[in-house]
Amino acid sequence: MGFDTSGLLPLSDALQGMLEQLACSCDSEQLPLPEALGRVLASDIASPLAVPPFDNSAMDGYAVRLADLTAGTPLIMAGKAFAGQPYQGEWPAGHCVRIMTGAPVPAGTDAVVMQEETQADGDRITFLAQPEPGQNIRRAGSDIGKGACVLPAGTRLTPREMPLLASLGVATVPVRRPLKVAIFSTGDELKPVGTPLAHGDIYDSNRYGVRAMLARMGCNCLDLGIIPDDPAQLRAAFIRADEEADVLITTGGVSVGEADFTKQLLDELGEIGFWKLAIKPGKPFAFGRLPRAWFFGLPGNPVSAMVTFDQLVQPALAKLAGQRFERPLQLQAIAAEPLKKSPGRLDFQRGIMSQGPNGLEVRSTGSQDSAVFSSLSRANCYIVLERERGRVAAGETVTVEPFGGLLL
Ligand code: AMP
Ligand code: MG
Repeated sequence: MGFDTSGLLPLSDALQGMLEQLACSCDSEQLPLPEALGRVLASDIASPLAVPPFDNSAMDGYAVRLADLTAGTPLIMAGKAFAGQPYQGEWPAGHCVRIMTGAPVPAGTDAVVMQEETQADGDRITFLAQPEPGQNIRRAGSDIGKGACVLPAGTRLTPREMPLLASLGVATVPVRRPLKVAIFSTGDELKPVGTPLAHGDIYDSNRYGVRAMLARMGCNCLDLGIIPDDPAQLRAAFIRADEEADVLITTGGVSVGEADFTKQLLDELGEIGFWKLAIKPGKPFAFGRLPRAWFFGLPGNPVSAMVTFDQLVQPALAKLAGQRFERPLQLQAIAAEPLKKSPGRLDFQRGIMSQGPNGLEVRSTGSQDSAVFSSLSRANCYIVLERERGRVAAGETVTVEPFGGLLL
């Protein structure tokens, strides 16, 4: 992996290095459609039907044969076709059929004329404009052909896929078992919410962020709580997580000073690399294998923990879960104010983007210190500043990455 002269590992190299080692290990099961929400498809879904299954009307109006239409001459209404109640019987020459949206068009229909383009005088219907052949007819199979792949393996099922699968009559779907992820926070100073703080203590916030992001990803979480900086307790927690979960994610204890401690333990238990990433926030990061589970060690600083999870751990978990993953769009915006930056690391500053008079603009949330958590909560995007870039002047173009599904 490409450590450069600064000793810092570029984010893209870290990501690639991880993804190369990971493969999906979750077996699959067949679930009823409503229970499959949030799960990842284990195989392609081919359509058992054509959609729509028959030619039908896109409008409320009249089904006509073009040969029957002579300008100005009315057609007699022969009968009606409703959704679920097709027109039955003969369709004599010189007649039209009243038809509602979704109703099958009678055999021989050339076009459907919307009601607004007609005049009715009893059952005599006058057509105000000459219809185009095929207008307002939804053809069988025009949305989805029978046998076509509608959703590829790896798709995470959201509310957008549910009606699609139901429209195909799919009652059960092959999905992957959710990834089981153990988490714990490390640090003698950490206390759980709901307990008093002694001098020098702080509340453990990372675990709540990590849990929430895991929930968004559809992972099952085994929360092992707070583990003090004590080798015996840490060792026991690592071993338990390895026995019970596919993945272990910890926060804290990977920075210089503490790393040796965790490193010693992890060297003994597995193969873990301690990296210094060329990103800000989030420099220290650990990744590797325990005997059974994969391990991700996030930095303790709350913003660093969230950003490294979002940028590095999320794609890695997606791969382990068998999920196709695409990073959110990156857009160009105008810096509405100067942004502090020193060259050397890729910055993920917290920004607030909005629509300005000259297009998308972005300002900083204020202090970008990795311990300032309120800046993340006020932000709606990252301002992604290239590694070699220095201070940004107001008016310069910068890249923004709107917060995606994980952080919104
Ligand atoms: P560490 O990586 O353990 O050296 O921690 C770096 C900084 O992050 C220290 O100020 C810790 O107190 C803080 N920190 C570590 N873990 C957490 C946590 N779970 N919640 C909030 N702050 C934390
Ligand atoms: Mg610590």
